[in-house]
Amino acid sequence: MSYENLAGRTAVVTGAASGIGEAVAVLLAAQGAKVALLARRRERLDALVEKIRANGGQALAVVADVTDDGSVDAAVERIHAAYGTVDLVVNSAGVMLPNPVDDRRIDEWRRMIDTNVTGVLRVTGAFTADLVGAAAEGRPADLVNISSIGAHIVFPNYAVYGATKAAITHLSETLRAEFGPRDVRVTNIEPGFTATELAQHIDSDGLREQVDGMLEAVGSLSSEEVADVVAYVGSRPRHVNLRQIMVLPTRQA
Ligand code: NDP
Repeated sequence: MSYENLAGRTAVVTGAASGIGEAVAVLLAAQGAKVALLARRRERLDALVEKIRANGGQALAVVADVTDDGSVDAAVERIHAAYGTVDLVVNSAGVMLPNPVDDRRIDEWRRMIDTNVTGVLRVTGAFTADLVGAAAEGRPADLVNISSIGAHIVFPNYAVYGATKAAITHLSETLRAEFGPRDVRVTNIEPGFTATELAQHIDSDGLREQVDGMLEAVGSLSSEEVADVVAYVGSRPRHVNLRQIMVLPTRQA
């Protein structure tokens, strides 16, 4: 499938080392965008950049931790030096660490809030001037946040993860109100079950098996299917803003 308006764009994709972020980076590059890939695992990013370049695309590996101010500042500097200003930002970096609240896993609460909420804000803030500048020049400019259906549905043990995703959904609404009048589009995407590494970081065998069981029962989207939605959004004429999209496996209620 080919999408209009993606060739010549300059994109930043966080969480590009795996899953949805990786698929988005591959698809945007295949459509002719220059793509900066952000995540912490250098070897993953290097391998992906090699794959994209082998297919004729343009990509840059930028090792960065979205929870760290200095790391994000350095990433922005590298991206500007290599590619100039950015006109498409996809916030996909995230962690899901379920636990009963009684366990008081402050370490995991902090990791989720720092990555899923403050990380998204840190990256968004770092590129806001780029997006506003691109829009002022009459070019399409997009902020795409990967929230989750978990922003709306209650799962026991997922209180903090769900709260971080509800925060992203709410934040996206407010950012749209702030950026829209300046012609910057904001899109909040809420996927359902998607087959990625997300559940691999759960440190309770029981809770990890519970996720595997749910995925088996209702099936899952592929990362490429979510990436297709991101590419569709970015490829609309610049006055068209798909602001909120839920995308679920058909059997997921
Ligand atoms: P993955 O675990 O495959 O991807 C998460 C990515 O985030 C990895 O590339 C990881 O790379 C990166 N990341 C994690 N922490 C940081 C950090 N501190 N700094 C920079 N990058 C970081 O899972 P998904 O692709 O599924 O997750 C992507 C997004 O999709 C998440 O926000 C998730 O909440 C959301 N989502 C996922 C669903 C699913 O069912 N899979 C459903 C709904 C939403 P590295 O470790 O190298 O840093």
